[in-house]
Amino acid sequence: MAYDLLVKNARVIDGSGAPAFRGDVGVCDGKIAAIGKLRGIARRTIDADGLVVTPGFVDTHCHYDAQVTWDPLCTFSCYHGVTSVIIGNCSLALAPVRPGGKERLSEFLSYVEAIPMEVLQTIDVTWETIPEYMATLDKRLGVNVGNLIGHTAVRHYVMGSESQGRPATRNEIEAMREIVREAITAGALGLSLSKVQGHYDPQGVRIPALWANDDEIFALGDVLAELGTGVIQAGGGRIPEMKDRLMSRLSETTGRQVVYSNLCYLAKDPEGWKHQMAVVDETVKSGIRANPMVSPNRTTYRFTMRNSQVFRGVPTWHPILIAKDEDKLRAYRDPDVRKKLHHEIVEWTAPPSNPMVGPRWMDTIWVDKPVLPKNECLQGKSIRQLAEAQGKGIIDAFLDLVVEEDLDTGFMLEAQNTDSEIMAKLLNYPNAYIGLSDGGAHVQFRGGTDYSTQLLSYWVRERGIMSLEHAVKQLTFDSASVFGIYDRGLLRPGLAADIAIFDPDTISPLPSDKVHDLPAGAWRLRELPTGIHYTIVNGEVLIEKGVPTGALPGRVLRNALYHTRTEESC
Ligand SMILES: [Zn+2]
Repeated sequence: MAYDLLVKNARVIDGSGAPAFRGDVGVCDGKIAAIGKLRGIARRTIDADGLVVTPGFVDTHCHYDAQVTWDPLCTFSCYHGVTSVIIGNCSLALAPVRPGGKERLSEFLSYVEAIPMEVLQTIDVTWETIPEYMATLDKRLGVNVGNLIGHTAVRHYVMGSESQGRPATRNEIEAMREIVREAITAGALGLSLSKVQGHYDPQGVRIPALWANDDEIFALGDVLAELGTGVIQAGGGRIPEMKDRLMSRLSETTGRQVVYSNLCYLAKDPEGWKHQMAVVDETVKSGIRANPMVSPNRTTYRFTMRNSQVFRGVPTWHPILIAKDEDKLRAYRDPDVRKKLHHEIVEWTAPPSNPMVGPRWMDTIWVDKPVLPKNECLQGKSIRQLAEAQGKGIIDAFLDLVVEEDLDTGFMLEAQNTDSEIMAKLLNYPNAYIGLSDGGAHVQFRGGTDYSTQLLSYWVRERGIMSLEHAVKQLTFDSASVFGIYDRGLLRPGLAADIAIFDPDTISPLPSDKVHDLPAGAWRLRELPTGIHYTIVNGEVLIEKGVPTGALPGRVLRNALYHTRTEESC
């Protein structure tokens, strides 16, 4: 047989979880044609001796809605072996949009996902409806892109500025349902919601999705039930699920898969994951598809007390944080101020309104970069350890150091997923899905586009918490399946030839650096990996040894209903 592309002598990991084997993968017309010891000629042969060949990774939680319009490769995800991304998460999207409505939708996206507004202002909006947006993307894609219908965009389209301020009327809900129906019929993969109460617009008002009551959410979900297709994604679903099982009820009522953010280890609530797992176990046992996502990435924040917002909202601390530096130093020296701070935050009588820290904050903040040579020995010590070693109170130990080093001591705050033993349990939890790269979001702060290489290097190779086959299954088949993508995520004859080829012994994320490559000259953090040799999309090489080939083989991914209909009609 003659192939377009033949990958020879690889260790084949097919995405099903089955053991790896030595073999070849043949590709024809953008699809996998054969797997095994293959004979025959090919237009192009890749010798993958010593490398692993797997399905391309499916990155299900991205915010490339704007970026994809100027960067059809969706960097940096594609460099990490990702061949499909799903956008429109957490209720945020750039369609539907009224003529002239670009600014407002961009503001939601910019403020919630920390994408510079000057970058979003450069987008050329030539679409109004979701099907038009999907058709626009379909003309020029490097990776495949699946779309979720963003509740915030839909609500704003229907209700305008009143989408932030009141419940929707029956007519407005009906108009929203019609938009959802039209988008699902055109192949959108599902609906996305937000339950993150801290998601504000630049004016400090909660984004439209957060103004919807349960009736509205269930009415929109009902369209997916009516059409029998589509997934429901919810940013910040954990809290309402724990409170009154909103995610489970939504899945039970609609019969659709619900995926929500997130299952994690929270340093400020170290036992929380156990309670959440118990709830998810119960849900799964009763036959309901409401599952959390879990990220392999740890979240830590570096800060100094010169610019920190960590204690924002604590009554005595708040005004000090926004005061001038000399006033900060004066306050931090003042024994009365220290007494009040101790009362409010050590005795925990006035917890911060924006809880980056919990009552055990003195264990989850540690000295990262001391300034003075004599304090170098403090590096890696938590504030509690500092206090104990010096025989001082927590606030005295903390602020003595801050004052002595003129506010410049570098601290590190543990936020999420920082306990490796617990993370091994969460990542192996069968009722959660691994993902949450947030690709395209908070481009200047922290990225997570390396979640796949992080999983394969740190968790699989270094810590050995799961087999390579299992990790690949999570990144491919499981991720594709849960979002209703049934023609990808496995190396199987007849399925799309989305392929990653990498060296399991060297694959790893590299340290990030700054790059000025965004429109309008803005910068972002660049996150590249090592060890990924090829990213192949629909049978064409997209990235070869870290360099884009210039090919644009990506497609818009459409749901099962769309495929069934178009196949029936031909
Ligand atoms: Zn998100």
